[in-house]
Amino acid sequence: MFWFRPKLFEFKMGRSMKSACDVRSEVKEFKSYEAGLSLEEIKERFGLEKVVKMASNENPDGMSPLALEWLKENSAEGFRYPQAGNPRLIQALTEYYQKQYPFITAENIFIGNGSDEIIDLLCRVRTVAGVHNVVAFNPCFGLYVTQSKFKGCELRQAPLKDDFNLDLDALFALVDDKTSLVFITSPDNPSGRLTSKEDLIAFAKKLPASCLLVVDEAYIEFAGEEQDVSLLSEFNTLNNVAIMRTFSKVYGLAGMRVGYAFLPAKLANYLWRVRLPFSINILAQEAAILSLQDEEFKQKTIAQALRGREEISKALQELGCVVYPSWSNFLMFKMPEGACTAQEFNEKMLKSGYIIRSLKAYGLPDYLRVSIGTDAQNKEFLEIAKQILAS
Ligand SMILES: *Cc1c(COP(=O)(O)O)cnc(C)c1O
Repeated sequence: MFWFRPKLFEFKMGRSMKSACDVRSEVKEFKSYEAGLSLEEIKERFGLEKVVKMASNENPDGMSPLALEWLKENSAEGFRYPQAGNPRLIQALTEYYQKQYPFITAENIFIGNGSDEIIDLLCRVRTVAGVHNVVAFNPCFGLYVTQSKFKGCELRQAPLKDDFNLDLDALFALVDDKTSLVFITSPDNPSGRLTSKEDLIAFAKKLPASCLLVVDEAYIEFAGEEQDVSLLSEFNTLNNVAIMRTFSKVYGLAGMRVGYAFLPAKLANYLWRVRLPFSINILAQEAAILSLQDEEFKQKTIAQALRGREEISKALQELGCVVYPSWSNFLMFKMPEGACTAQEFNEKMLKSGYIIRSLKAYGLPDYLRVSIGTDAQNKEFLEIAKQILAS
């Protein structure tokens, strides 16, 4: 039938460019990322001197002093290209993780400009437009949605349970032989729920051989003993799992943009071939390496987050809010019956100089998320919450 191939004809027509500014049809459906008001804009709009951001799960203490001092002294190094592939950072991560997991080798470690870049690359190398599908929960981290759609593949989403537990059976029901990626966030964002290691292992084992399970552990450091909660200890027994981590949360380097992942060596090698060679800049690389050395800062960050999580959770519940159990550095909560709406609460917080996260964009207009701050910030946040809910 080589003389008449209507399918191929339609395929080509559907993707033809009509002008020099035309783009792929997937791209036309995109809206720009909606950033919230900047700190400056909020100060100006509400006439505030001080604004506290408890909206993006950043480290309230900033970055490790080791990293900060180095940056202050050495930012002039920014004129240099970093070494392609950032071998110093790969070496540092390998040494750090080999201490506890001797089976991890440098070939298993991949790094990106935030885990965002790794999500993007996984979608790009693992999906063929119009052929493969990607499976995730709804709601889920926005990048799983945008990057899979951008690649032109179908995104299948399983709803969360009413209590925000992840229903792995519902997720599995969406998987077929064209599913190339399944994304699970554990602990999850925005709910804070942890999926047990045992459940993840069982899930990984029943996936078709052609499917990669991507477990996004951006918040795992806040979830308890790594051995008990992370899939990393099982990495050598599973050959279809990628584990993503980031320097953005516990290490306080969100603005530097460094993420990393543990991958089967063969897949990591493919990613290295297509990755932009300098995607992690020279300053970010050194900040990440030094952050890994500052165990004291990391432990202080974790202790403060757990202390604050306990305190805010207890206090919000005393005010009548529904607070969801969290294994992360943030809490998701709902207003008490008969109180103001979540949007009103959010607006009043903003007027008092506290930025928290409305979950409207996640399709959860009745829910809010607050990042755990410093002890003083948590206290002040709770005082304002009390005033708002009493009025
Ligand atoms: C914050 C976060 C990340 C981190 O992304 P980076 O690009 O590394 O800053 C990844 N996944 C989830 C679910 C997150 O909430």
